[in-house]
Amino acid sequence: MTYFDHNATTQPCAEAIEEMQDALVKLWANPSSTHAAGQAARSALADARTRVARFLGCQGAELVFTSGATEANHMAILGGLALGRVRGRQRVVLSAVEHPGLLALAARLRAEGVVVDMIPVHRDGSLDLQAADRLIGDDVALVSVMGANNETGVCMPLDELALRAHAAGALLHVDATQLIGKSLRRFDTSGADLWSTSAHKLHGPKGVGALVVRKGLALPALLSGRQERQRRGGTENLPGILGFAAAAERASLTLAADIAHMQGLQERLERGLLALSPQVHLYGEGRARLPNTTLLRFGTLDADLVLTRLERGGVLASSGAACSAGGTQPSHVLLAMGESPEQAKAGIRLSTGRDTTVDDVDRCVAVVTAQLLPLLAEEAVATP
Ligand code: PLP
Repeated sequence: MTYFDHNATTQPCAEAIEEMQDALVKLWANPSSTHAAGQAARSALADARTRVARFLGCQGAELVFTSGATEANHMAILGGLALGRVRGRQRVVLSAVEHPGLLALAARLRAEGVVVDMIPVHRDGSLDLQAADRLIGDDVALVSVMGANNETGVCMPLDELALRAHAAGALLHVDATQLIGKSLRRFDTSGADLWSTSAHKLHGPKGVGALVVRKGLALPALLSGRQERQRRGGTENLPGILGFAAAAERASLTLAADIAHMQGLQERLERGLLALSPQVHLYGEGRARLPNTTLLRFGTLDADLVLTRLERGGVLASSGAACSAGGTQPSHVLLAMGESPEQAKAGIRLSTGRDTTVDDVDRCVAVVTAQLLPLLAEEAVATP
């Protein structure tokens, strides 16, 4: 099988597995215990904090370990809103293409009476900055955008948004989950106040991530308790956190080369697929995009059918469309980009990783040729 689904998750690297196994066997004491075993765990936790902070570009004291990016996003939005309310600010501004977990939180807030405004995107998936200008006013507590979109890979204009948010006196939260391991952007040079990440997108374990909280920002906790300097209660997931640290260190060794490698693969993949048929449509072309992400549609072939055919040929990928009890729902990202519901159910995301090879890419193009071209030819005849 050839894995083209790195934006969903990545395989834990050997370094992370080894360090986690070691921690499970040797560092199982509670870092809050005052005895020697507890203090050994505490010291490993402090060390991991420094290692992850170095990778993300923040200070150790700015890092709050969480159960992943979903929790970090909740902490950022709810905490940012609470801080805003103290200053009479009640409004939250998000992009229309945020992760479904964050949009679900926005829906919950709306039901509670909070005004949540969405910045639209253009047809190519880029953020509408003129709309952002109109929406970011001095009643806004928090602006929240993703660093790069998980479906299209299109990067958001973080510098411009930081300027606008700060000029209005609002905080900027960046869901940087898809940036890590694929971009040189770091917290310290981003202008953001809050920065969410997740280890499993970086060849680390699932169920662990972090929220970077800019120094001096007294963000309220989501989970009360004494851990993480009272900012996140609950016994720390030390094996997970050490796995995160090992993955971050491993990633930093080859980051620039990995990005260049994935960029080369992306060019080869997209060139190969676009050459197959004029019915192959690439999203976000010409825009600043993650080097590993290619979102396409093959005519209007339903994503379910395409994914089944790709898997039959040994290629594992994903669609942006969400599955629910009522069947496949169109991708909210493609709808926001102005696609029809039928087109928005046809998006296929191919996402590579640092271990993906040229052979993998060529195999993918060959599988598309064999599995999908006949279907595309049929569609062209049916809809001339
Ligand atoms: N935000 C973005 C942009 C993501 O791509 C994901 C994962 O798919 C998440 C948040 C959720 O991350 P986690 O699985 O760590 O909760």
